[in-house]
Amino acid sequence: MRRSLCLVFCLCLLWVGSTAHAHRNQPQSRRIGMVIHGGAGTILKSSLTPEMEKAYRDKLTESLLAGKSVLENHGSSLDAVEAAIRILEDSPLFNAGKGAVFTADGTNSLDASVMEGKSLKAGAVAGVGHIKNPISLARIVMEKSPHVLLTGKGAETFAQLNGVKLVNPKYFFTERRWEELQHEKELEKKGLKENMRAAGFSSPEDRKYGTVGAVALDETGSLAAGTSTGGMTNKKWGRIGDSPIIGAGTYANNQTCAVSATGHGEYFIRLGVARDIAALMEYQKLSVKEATETVILKKLEALGGKGGVIAIDRNGNIAMTFNSEGMYRAYLNPEGQPVVEIFR
Ligand code: ASP
Repeated sequence: MRRSLCLVFCLCLLWVGSTAHAHRNQPQSRRIGMVIHGGAGTILKSSLTPEMEKAYRDKLTESLLAGKSVLENHGSSLDAVEAAIRILEDSPLFNAGKGAVFTADGTNSLDASVMEGKSLKAGAVAGVGHIKNPISLARIVMEKSPHVLLTGKGAETFAQLNGVKLVNPKYFFTERRWEELQHEKELEKKGLKENMRAAGFSSPEDRKYGTVGAVALDETGSLAAGTSTGGMTNKKWGRIGDSPIIGAGTYANNQTCAVSATGHGEYFIRLGVARDIAALMEYQKLSVKEATETVILKKLEALGGKGGVIAIDRNGNIAMTFNSEGMYRAYLNPEGQPVVEIFR
C-alpha cells in the first residue's frame, strides 16, 4: 500500500514538473480583443425592418471578423482597426465613407482618426470630399507626416503625394442620405427645430447618427482605436465634429484603454470624452466600465449630449456605453465569437 502511494506521488510530481516545463517553453499567449460600433442614435426595433436589421447585423459581423482575422494572424491592433473600419466605410449602411451624410451645400465632407496606444502616435483628416477610405488616409497622416490632423484640400494633396487616388464625389451619393438632407432642410425652413429646442426637445433627426469606429487589443498587448464619419446631416460652415479630434472621438494608450465615440460631436469635444475616460482609469483607477459610465451616463447626460462609446482596456475588458436609444455594436466574446447588439 505504502509503495503504491509512493509511486502515485512520484508520478504526480513528474506530471506537474513536465507541464510547468511545457508552459515555460510556450510563448505567452495573450488575449486578443475587439469591439466595433456603427453609430448611436434613435435606433428602435420598430423603426428597422427585419431585412434592414439583418443587413446591419451581417455587415457588423463581417467587419468584426475581418478585424479578428488580422489579430489571429498576429497582426497589430492598428491593422485590425483599419481593416474593420474600411468594411464599414465601403457599406452604404453607415454614415462613413460610401454612406456619408450630406452637408447643407449638398456635398459630403468626411472626417476620420486613428491612434496607436503603444507609441501614442495619432493621425486624422477632416473635411475631405474625395477620399474613399478616410481611415486609411488618417493612418498615412500618422505614419508618413510629422502632423496629427490635416484638413480639406491640403489633406487631399497629401493623399495624392502618398499614392492615394481621389474619387469622384458622386461615389458618395446615396438616395437615402439625400432624402435625409431634404427632410432636415424642410424642418429647418419651418423653424420646427428651433421651436422644439426652445421647448427643451430635440427632434428624432437630431439623434440619427451613424459614425463607425473600432478598438482592438493585439497579442502583444497593444491597443488601437479608430473612428470615421460623414459628420451630421445639413452641417454648415465647415463644421467638424469630434471624430477626427484626438481625445474627443478617439483615444488609445496602452497604460489604460482604447476608445471610439459616436454621437453629437460638439458635446464630445467639450467634454474631451475619449481622453477623459482614459484619465479616469489612469488617475482614479476606475475600471473601463466605470470610466465609460461616469463620462457617458453622468457627464454627457448632465450636459444634454447624446451618444456612446466603445472601449477596451489592456487586459481585454470591454465597455459599450451609450445614453441614446440604441447603438450598432459588435464584439468578440471570451470564446472569440462575434456578438452583435443594436438596441438597449
Ligand atoms: N460624432 C459625429 C459628429 O458629430 C456624428 C456621429 O457620431 O454620428 O460628427
